[in-house]
Amino acid sequence: MEHAEDGPGPQGQHAGEARWRGLFERMGEGFFVAEALRDAAGRMTDFRFVEVNPAFERLTGIPMQHALGRPVREVIPGVPDDLIRTYARVVDSGEPAEFEVHVPALNDRWYEARARALGHGQFCVLFLEITQRKAVELALVRSEARYRTLFESIDEGFCILQLLFDAAGQPHDYRFVEINPAFERHTGMAGALGRTARELIPNLELTWVHTYARVAVSGEPLRFEDHAPSMGRWFDVFAFRIGNPAEHKVALLFSDITQRKQVEQALREADARKDEFLATLAHELRNPLAPISNGLAILRHAEAGSAVGVRARELMERQLAHMVRLVDDLLDVSRVSRGKVELRKATVALGALVEAALETSRPLLDAAGHRLELALPAEPVLLDADATRLSQVLSNLLNNAAKYTREGGHVRLAARCLPQRRVSIAVSDNGIGIPPQMLDKVFDLFTQVGAALERSQGGLGIGLSLARRLVEMHGGHISAASDGAGRGSTFTVELPTL
Ligand code: ADP
Repeated sequence: MEHAEDGPGPQGQHAGEARWRGLFERMGEGFFVAEALRDAAGRMTDFRFVEVNPAFERLTGIPMQHALGRPVREVIPGVPDDLIRTYARVVDSGEPAEFEVHVPALNDRWYEARARALGHGQFCVLFLEITQRKAVELALVRSEARYRTLFESIDEGFCILQLLFDAAGQPHDYRFVEINPAFERHTGMAGALGRTARELIPNLELTWVHTYARVAVSGEPLRFEDHAPSMGRWFDVFAFRIGNPAEHKVALLFSDITQRKQVEQALREADARKDEFLATLAHELRNPLAPISNGLAILRHAEAGSAVGVRARELMERQLAHMVRLVDDLLDVSRVSRGKVELRKATVALGALVEAALETSRPLLDAAGHRLELALPAEPVLLDADATRLSQVLSNLLNNAAKYTREGGHVRLAARCLPQRRVSIAVSDNGIGIPPQMLDKVFDLFTQVGAALERSQGGLGIGLSLARRLVEMHGGHISAASDGAGRGSTFTVELPTL
């Protein structure tokens, strides 16, 4: 009965066995049946191979004849104890087991095995060699660990984003699915993991979403620098797609370059200011030369002591004094910025400082027809100060008040004592005033407000910078106030007193 192969009866049994044996002989998996060997206490400590298939030989490198009938500890010296314990559990409990095992004694091979108890102390094992797969897995784990260490330790920010698209297929946000420790420092965002960019920054510019969506869709990596006004930061970003394109994931390697940009935005400004200064300097030094050479021409022909001659000489002296002042200021500012100025401090009365300053500034105030008002405290105020330097500061403020106020203006110098042994000296005018955004900047070197300024009395934009440094060297502070263009200015110097 050909068809009753696996039916009951001796003939069927035989045919069925033949079919299983054929399979057993031809299959790619290794297979063996083994029998437990026990010690005196009945513990399984070894096993003997009862049957092995040809694949067994191929997958283990052990000839079938060498294995059959012999204990595994003899066939594979150094077989892992763990492996024997695993089979013992299968045999004793009757529970099947599925596991991976590394057998260094077998040429360092890895196997995946399924063991099942057969009864009577026997068990069978079906196994595959997975050494190569393991090697790839291990390499992946290792490289993942390597990259992870790298990303965790680098100073640059690293994150993986997942782009989010709306029903119409338009990108509208992205979620942070991985971030490294430096991420927070570069973005200023804590707890970003798992949240979306627009949850964290509701007013985030959509260009960021669109840029990353382009990378996610096209797969083209992108390197760029851009400003995120919503975050108040500049970034240098390298964005590249990772993973399966359908996941819409983009990795970013980025740095916060706000400081660099500010230094750059500031360097350009300083450079422009220096160019402007050089032009002003040339102009200011050139201006007095024409009247001086005119004066010389007049003197050549004028009689000694004549009125024309005297006028010419006075004019030349004024122009020369102006040039000397400019050059002195220039030298001072370079000395102060190089820390080359030493204060010669002594006890000095505020009144004396003001008097010395007025001596210098009075001609300029008078020439412009300004009315000067003085208001000093009744009691004497004493300072530990370099009198020359401080009167230079005050006369600078008075000169500016005179220069930047239309003729016939009003200039006031008012001093008053403050708590904690300080005095404030305010020089105010009713002149052209200073726009609010320039109030702090007028103290920067070479800064002058507006080109519309009448430059007839102009300087080099160094007086206030010098004043600030000298005041600070005295442990004091200087500030400017103004209600805006055309509404006058007040410069206040605060100094410690004795
Ligand atoms: P400058 O030699 O140009 O006077 P300063 O450093 O003394 O240089 O002053 C810097 C700038 O501040 C001036 O060019 C002017 O634009 C502005 N400024 C200074 N003092 C006054 C003031 N009293 N009123 C209006 N503007 C002023």
